[in-house]
Amino acid sequence: MGTAAFVSGATGFIAQHIIKQLLEKGYSVVGSVRNESKGETLKKNFATDKFSYEIVEDLETVGAFDTALKKHPEVTIFLHTASPVTFDVEDNEKDIILPAINGTVNVLKAIKATAPQVNKVVITSSVASQRTFSNPSALVSEDTWNDITYEQAKSDSVAAYYGSKTFAEKAAIEFVKNEEPHFTISTVHPVFVFGPQAFDSEAKGELNVTNTFISGLLKLKEGSDASVPTNSGTFIDVRDVAAAHLIEIEKPSNGLRVLVKNVDFNSQSLLNIINKNFPELGLIKGDPEAPVDKKRITDAKSRAYLGVNYIDIEKSVVDTVKQYVAANKLG
Ligand code: NAP
Repeated sequence: MGTAAFVSGATGFIAQHIIKQLLEKGYSVVGSVRNESKGETLKKNFATDKFSYEIVEDLETVGAFDTALKKHPEVTIFLHTASPVTFDVEDNEKDIILPAINGTVNVLKAIKATAPQVNKVVITSSVASQRTFSNPSALVSEDTWNDITYEQAKSDSVAAYYGSKTFAEKAAIEFVKNEEPHFTISTVHPVFVFGPQAFDSEAKGELNVTNTFISGLLKLKEGSDASVPTNSGTFIDVRDVAAAHLIEIEKPSNGLRVLVKNVDFNSQSLLNIINKNFPELGLIKGDPEAPVDKKRITDAKSRAYLGVNYIDIEKSVVDTVKQYVAANKLG
């Protein structure tokens, strides 16, 4: 029957690619979703009996995952991806920080209490837990930790996201130290994730937050007084992020906080790729020669561990734009 994996937050941009790759490799997958209609959409899209879903309405409810896990004694691997990725909230602590921390703890408690057969847990963390809040230009690596305090994290929604990923990961480490569970925990730390949705139908309308950095550029029409946003960061394609999760579940855990990153970008460099490949969209040119700032991130240990060649940024942006333009009938 093959190995079965549980994926929390199955509706997510990254999670859908993880599930797709798991199914392609012969795993059975149980995904958690917040309601039935989201589950049914996924079932229709994955179109296989090897995918099923369980409803977990709220990450924060005590015992949230217990019932779902008890129903699936076949599950031996748990991938915890669910966490708020949103910056437009009313309450930074309540809407971003606490669901991330409590969701992680609830997952780990549920596995300890109800799923003795689960031997591996992979948590989707982020480079946000490896960056230094007090010094954004400090070198980032697999070994660095964000020094953000709880008070600082509450101050704005971006800080709250950084804090949420940092505190959730620390809570997982604390859990292992105190509870000595029967499973190992490892973490995957993507940088800024772009790339197509797992299904073309999901590219209609508003995209997940990180891809709006690309879709937002498609509104900058030539002849308008639009200017190029100042966003910048380091990129990785979603298909590489999903593949890193699969490598992580198939290799013995070695304690490496796997940092998944490709090249640096800014809005201008993304715009240059779009203008080169989609001149018919008639977007502003900006300053095509403007340089991309180099971010100080090293991922040497992770590259050696994963042993992969990443999808380049041009292909990632082209695949994203092509899918978005077709789904939304732009052009
Ligand atoms: P996404 O598309 O927004 O997916 C987030 C998932 O978490 C969705 O399934 C969402 O459910 C679920 N979720 C969020 N808040 C929840 C809550 N309070 N209760 C229950 N479920 C909740 O984001 P993504 O980009 O795929 O991110 C997935 C994971 O990767 C997150 O842990 C994120 O921190 C991490 N990550 C993302 C990036 C990036 O650039 N995208 C980079 C580094 C790390 P609904 O669909 O029902 O809202």
